Amino acid sequence: MRTYNIPIFVPHKGCPYDCVFCNQKRITGTQSEVTADDVRSIIENCIKTIKIKDRYVEAAFFGGSFTGIPIEEQTSLLFAANEYLKKGLIDGIRLSTRPDYIDITILDNLKRFGVTTIELGVQSMSQEVLKKSNRGHTRDDVIKAVELIRKYPFKLGLQMMTGLPADTDERSLQTADDIIELKPDFVRIYPTLTIKDTFLEKLYCNGDYMPQTLDEAVELAKKLLMKFEKNNIQVIRIGLQATGEISESGSVVAGPVHSSFRELVESSIYYDIIADSVSEGAERAEVFVNPSELSKATGNRRSNIIKIKNEKNIDIRVCPDKALKKREVRCVCY
Ligand code: SF4
Repeated sequence: MRTYNIPIFVPHKGCPYDCVFCNQKRITGTQSEVTADDVRSIIENCIKTIKIKDRYVEAAFFGGSFTGIPIEEQTSLLFAANEYLKKGLIDGIRLSTRPDYIDITILDNLKRFGVTTIELGVQSMSQEVLKKSNRGHTRDDVIKAVELIRKYPFKLGLQMMTGLPADTDERSLQTADDIIELKPDFVRIYPTLTIKDTFLEKLYCNGDYMPQTLDEAVELAKKLLMKFEKNNIQVIRIGLQATGEISESGSVVAGPVHSSFRELVESSIYYDIIADSVSEGAERAEVFVNPSELSKATGNRRSNIIKIKNEKNIDIRVCPDKALKKREVRCVCY
């Protein structure tokens, strides 16, 4: 079954603070307020384009702090989405929000309108990083929100960022450990990008903030991905979705932007596995992987093949083998 989100962006709606890295209007490419009629037309237009029958579709309120919006407005937007849920045209409603805007009244209202999935922007579990990023909530707010959400039948996703002001690799890895303890159903990992017209841009231009390099961000995301996978927590996204705005020619001033960030991370995992599998002193090797993993094993622009040649002086050829599972590698060295 294929899963689809119908994105309905409510940029910066319900946000009591300006997080230093955030300019949702630029990130989402949406400038105007969303009304209940907009919700209806977005769902109707989008649903027509999904032709597959075996599907699971959620209307997804992203880009703001949904539960920070006045409750009457939340209700009006949810009511519109719920009409399509009742007709069986969509299967659920998901939304993203902040941990400090979760209470029983809010959750009861979300349940009433058929919300299925809540995503909380945790970003970091380091108090200092949260403060420097002007998040306006604490790590305890995250823990309390998760405890409360778990009393309801919602699916729960937690989002974390790396490379925030005052952040370090150790703090990000600790954040991942804390998130694992909270047992979410899935996570998202976003390396921080410096976006135009944000406070982070000012910090960066004044020399008070140093973004991660692409290599640093990939290396850290790799460790995080492996930690979550080891704990059976699905990572549904790594890196912001590339768009005209989310690109170096768009609104990204600095930071580890790449249109296939996740692919870089997964390829880097393959590099480590292949480098461990080839025998020292071999001249060449055939590296077998599952056919669906060929491009990840080869690396972006053949980066893994080139790196193995440069670092170990071995010519490798990546070959398909249906019998192998994801991340399983069989090496024949000559
Ligand atoms: S809470 Fe989310 S949407 Fe609101 S300013 Fe912060 S990052 Fe942006």
